[in-house]
Amino acid sequence: MTPPVRPPRVAVVGAGISGLTAAHRLRDLLGPTAAITVVEQTDRPGGKLHTTEVGGLRVDVGAEAYLHRRPEVTDLLAELGLAARATHPAKARSTVRAGGVTRLIPGGTVMGVPTTAGAVADLLTDDARARVAAEPDLPGLDWTGDAALGPLLRARFGDELTDRLVDPLLGGVYAGAVDGLGLRATMPGLATALDDGATSLTAAAAASAPTPSGGPVFGTVDTGLGTLVDALVATAAADLRLGTTVRRLERTAAGWRLHLGANTPAHAPDHPALDADAVILAVPAPAARKLLDGVVPAASAAYGQVEVASMAVVALVLPPGTELPGTNGVLLSAGERKLDGTPFAAKAFTFSHTKWPHLRAAGPVLVRGSVGRHHDPGALRADDDELVRLVRADFTELTGVGAPPIDTAVRRWGGGLPQYGVGHTALVERVERAVAAEPGLAVAGATLHGVGLPACVATGDAAARRVAEHVTGNA
Ligand SMILES: Cc1cc2nc3c(=O)[nH]c(=O)nc-3n(C[C@H](O)[C@H](O)[C@H](O)COP(=O)(O)OP(=O)(O)OC[C@H]3O[C@@H](n4cnc5c(N)ncnc54)[C@H](O)[C@@H]3O)c2cc1C
Repeated sequence: MTPPVRPPRVAVVGAGISGLTAAHRLRDLLGPTAAITVVEQTDRPGGKLHTTEVGGLRVDVGAEAYLHRRPEVTDLLAELGLAARATHPAKARSTVRAGGVTRLIPGGTVMGVPTTAGAVADLLTDDARARVAAEPDLPGLDWTGDAALGPLLRARFGDELTDRLVDPLLGGVYAGAVDGLGLRATMPGLATALDDGATSLTAAAAASAPTPSGGPVFGTVDTGLGTLVDALVATAAADLRLGTTVRRLERTAAGWRLHLGANTPAHAPDHPALDADAVILAVPAPAARKLLDGVVPAASAAYGQVEVASMAVVALVLPPGTELPGTNGVLLSAGERKLDGTPFAAKAFTFSHTKWPHLRAAGPVLVRGSVGRHHDPGALRADDDELVRLVRADFTELTGVGAPPIDTAVRRWGGGLPQYGVGHTALVERVERAVAAEPGLAVAGATLHGVGLPACVATGDAAARRVAEHVTGNA
């Protein structure tokens, strides 16, 4: 008699958006009998998606929006029956504070790299404007496939455009400074245009700028992105082990063994090891480095080269009726100083109440401040009360709004964002090549092909498909 075929066992490490998307897709592909386990070291699923109540509002204190222009999150919401919950920002523009003045962020750029000199003219002094206008005529670029963004932009456009626009825009995405980021991973379209022979950055930006569709660029969920997390947890129907850390990964004759540890005695696992036919690691780079050490050394070493930046989100909920500026928010250039000469603690504010229709309809008025740049912890050293005080003072100076908040929240994200430095795409290729050689192993997450939610969803989905092929023998 042939033994009954055992349903496949797959373990997903990390319950952020990448791991939960993977678990959801695995359930879809492997059916109801598959044993899918999601191991998460904290006491809640979602990772950097975290919706919590502040001042009577549902507030996202991690990621707050997804890029709607990419299909992945929009499609996932539709698949989960949440399409009707999607909402898009008001038409109001965002601003940047640079050189002591707050101005509208210009269109016609790729992350601040102008498609024409005219696009950024309003932001610059006469000298800087002339430098930007001269960029297309500079001698050809010494392009070898990647470059440190800051030095390249400074050499081609000068410091002013780099510091006033590109740096704040990239700081908003990576919590990183332009000088430490690489062009290919942060502006892949521009890199491809250079590969294809663009002879200046202006020409490369013009060739790679997305054609405006007239449709919304961003979206969110009107009950908070936590609703997406809840839906993924439900459809994945996995054995979700919260408060449990995977401490070590081991290759066995039959597959993989995960060695588990508890963060509190209440979470102590019944069995400190979990055996699986396949594993998806959907964890940040430092954890991936540790778990792959000794198992897939080349991938571990590549993960080990990815730095991470820490940040914090400070939510201020102001009394109903508080008037905000008529824009969606403000980014602060790194060198900005307050009237008293001290640096701002915040690097950006989102005027959430103005930006999102569902919040505008609510009574209390939400503003989100972001704090923390890579290698510049600054105000992150302050305790929560002091951080709120500093962020409130920044907000008042920038907007003139002094109303005391009715509620506040501070959410810290230690090592929250990977830094895509020079050569990052090559590092990721090394990770993926090494992992692909290991049957039943896949990786996903923000370290790989973009920190944004659509890119994370794409990696979770791809990892699940790879692993499903392996466990069903269809590889
Ligand atoms: C403050 C902030 C704001 C952001 N805003 C936006 C935004 O508006 N739009 C956008 O598109 N992107 C935004 N991002 C980026 C985006 O949120 C993240 O890149 C994305 O959510 C990462 O998802 P992930 O699943 O790859 O990783 P994570 O969310 O980090 O999930 C990984 C999980 O793995 C767990 N884990 C780690 N090690 C182990 C282990 N050994 N055992 C078990 N579990 C482990 C962690 O606890 C974590 O829950 C923001 C990021 C931050 C920090």
